Order: sequence, then C-alpha cells, then structure tokens
Amino acid sequence: MARLTFYGAAREVTGSCHLLEAPAVGRVLLDCGMHQGGDAVDRNDGDFGFDPAAIDAVVLSHAHLDHSGLLPRLYHQGFRGLIHCTAATAELLEVMLKDAAGLYFRDLERANLRNARRGRPEEPAAYAWDDVAAVLQACAGHRYREPVALERAGTLRFHDAGHILGSAICELSFEEEDGPRRLVFSGDLGKHDSVLMREPERLAEADLVLLESTYGDREHKTEEDTLTELRDVLHETWRRGGNVMMPSFAVGRAQEILFHLGRLYSAGELDPWQVFLDSPMAIAVTRVYDHWLKLLDEDDVRSLSEPHRRSLETFLPTLRLTEDTDASMAINRIDRGALIIAGSGMCTGGRIRHHFKHRIWDARNTVVFVGFQAEGTLGRLIVDGVSPIRMFGDEFVVKARVATLGGLSAHAGQSGLVSWLGAFDPAPQTVLVHGEAGAQKALAARIRGELGIEAEIPGRYDSIDF
Ligand SMILES: [Zn+2]
Repeated sequence: MARLTFYGAAREVTGSCHLLEAPAVGRVLLDCGMHQGGDAVDRNDGDFGFDPAAIDAVVLSHAHLDHSGLLPRLYHQGFRGLIHCTAATAELLEVMLKDAAGLYFRDLERANLRNARRGRPEEPAAYAWDDVAAVLQACAGHRYREPVALERAGTLRFHDAGHILGSAICELSFEEEDGPRRLVFSGDLGKHDSVLMREPERLAEADLVLLESTYGDREHKTEEDTLTELRDVLHETWRRGGNVMMPSFAVGRAQEILFHLGRLYSAGELDPWQVFLDSPMAIAVTRVYDHWLKLLDEDDVRSLSEPHRRSLETFLPTLRLTEDTDASMAINRIDRGALIIAGSGMCTGGRIRHHFKHRIWDARNTVVFVGFQAEGTLGRLIVDGVSPIRMFGDEFVVKARVATLGGLSAHAGQSGLVSWLGAFDPAPQTVLVHGEAGAQKALAARIRGELGIEAEIPGRYDSIDF
C-alpha cells in the first residue's frame, strides 16, 4: 500500500509539499514550497510536520518558490538525499534560491537589529548560505521523458507541464507487493495558448492523479485578445507622449512580455519605444531561458524574423538590460517613450516603486498590469483606483492611466484542467491540490459531471492510500 500525506497546498495555493510513503520507494517528498501571503511567516518557520532526515529523495515539479522555497530549511534540518528535477529547473533554482536567501538574510538582520534595540533575544537563522549551496549541489537535473531510477526502487519521469521553463508533470511508477502503482503529480499546468511554453503533455495512465486547481473555477481570455489590448494601450500612450510602467514577475511573465513586444516589433506594430528590463532577477532568469531556448515552443520562436529569434535578448532589438542601480536611475531622465518592465510583480517592493515615484502622478503615463494582484498589495490598490497612494513615507496622486491585461496566465483555466484529466483512461483516483476551496469545489463539480470522477479534496495533514 502506498500513502500520500499533504503538508501544504491543501485547500490553498501556496506551500506545495506532499509526502509519498511506500515500502518500495521509501519516503519521497513531492515539492518543498514556501507559504506566501496570510500567516506565511509562521508557517514557513514552523516544523515541517515530518522528519526531514528521514526523506529519501525530493521530486521537484518546478522552480517557483511556492514549490521549492523551503529546500534550504529541509537541508538545514537534516535532509541529505537527491533533489530530482529537470535540468532547466536546476538552473532556474540557483537564481531563485539565491535571490530569496538574500532577501531573507536582509530581513532577518533588520529584525534582529530591532530585537537588539528592544532588548529581545536574537532570532536564529532558519538556514545558512551553506545550506543553499548544498541544495544546489544535491539537484540532479534530468531531461523530459528520461527514465530516472529512484533511490530505493521505482522509476520517475518528467513531462513538460508548459507552465514556466523546466516545469514538469511528475510520473512515478513502482511495484508494491500487491501490484504496480503509478502516481502522476501535475505540478502547475500551463495554459494551452500561452506563448513560449509548449502545451502541457497529456498522459493516459495513472492509478492516482494529483491535480492542481488554481483556476478551477474560471477560464482565461485568449492570448490573441491580450496581444491586441497590449498593442492598443501602448500605441495610445505613445501618442500622448507618455511612458509605460509595467510591473512584472521575474520568472515567466517578463519573458512572455518580451516575446509579445518582439512579435509586435516584427509585425511593424510597435512604436519606437526605448524598452528597459529593469530587474536584475528578471535579467538573470531571461539568460536561463536563453540557454534553454530549445525547450520553448518552436512555432513561437520561429514566428520572429530571422536575426531576432536567436535569443530572448534579441527578440526586441531596442531592449536594454539595466542591471546596476545607476543605469536604473538614468531611466528617470527620459521624458517620453520609455517602456519600463520592473519588479516586483505586485509592486510590494523592487524598482517599480521608484518608477512610480517619478511618473505615476503624470497623466501622460500608463501603468500596465500584466499579472495577478493579490489583496493588500500596492498593485491591487492601484488597480482598485485608490489615489493618492503611499510610498517612501510620502503621498503620490495616481494620474497615470491604469490598464489591466487579464489574459496572461501561467495556469490552465477550468476547461484546460478538465480536458487534461480527461486524457487518462481508465479514469484514475483523483485528488485536487493547489487551489482555494471555492475553485476546488467548482472544479470537482465539473469533473464529476463531465468525467464521472469523484475527486477528493484533502486538507492539511490528511492522508490518502492508494
Ligand atoms: Zn508555479
């Protein structure tokens, strides 16, 4: 008998972490992600709920921190096995874990300075730089579809999930005393028409499927409509003699935007903007994407005219990468025609706030939102029409036009999820993870109606045998 226990992303969208235990394979952890939002700090600092030293191996679906962010803590607390992932994920992971560690140690130092001033004890670090290095050392990078022998027994295969570079659907097969078992973990599944990413691969065989359900209750606009919206809002701002500020996530979304701009450029539909990718993290990630161009959607890459299709940095000949702070600040001197892509994606920090400081109060400019803005973030306030906004201890009136492009998503919508699950024959035992309760209920209802499967929705610490 095999058992799965859910330690995160159970009736919620972050903290992906599931434990597979079976006599044949031992203890295999699927993802080891950070909790984000809400009571995230307590959840990340708390116990795992299992003994990290007793884990034989980790299988990592992709590099996003809500799937990978607790790996350094896992190592710090005694884990010494291999971390299986795709080779592209391993490369992205280096950028992401180092960036996250930098922020973590900076925040910890500030918190401990506060503690010292108040006469309170110092808060110990949950992990050290050495643990980050050890995690990167422990990563075993594999190709899609390559059979990988697990530590004890069993075979692992990664399939393209089409979500971000290197993202994988994880298929584990092993023998139990009473027969073979096949577990398929969807990871995060991409949207079928998203650019740069291929379609999520469809699998046909599984005893149990762990299916993500982030957008289990909704559909997305098409990518084509989104491109039209983008073209129009840029053109309109150009005619007003303004500038564009585009808050963007560093992984996936920024590269997708560069591609869209490249397509508009190739089609002669882009005004002569000076485009800046003003985020060291997004620049580093873009270089990893460049290294793995062969994993991206061939048709998309080929749709660009010849000299521009060789690297994401050349997709758009007018693109400038501003790594250091001086180059970033020099953008402030441009009066019109600057299109600035900067982080953070929800404007909670990063360089985008500095660009807002210089430009959000000027009616010629436009803020273009290309990603989800969570409740309580500065991005959400701006989308909701709040003005003035507060930043840097000052007030700023929002006179810039605010546009939201709703169609860009790295996740499949409801129909995409149902159709991916429908490819399995016969119907597998199905478990919904990585979604909020409402989205999961809606998805379960549609799965019941269309596929006749009674999907299970486990809570945190629940176990399922199969
Ligand atoms: Zn993800």
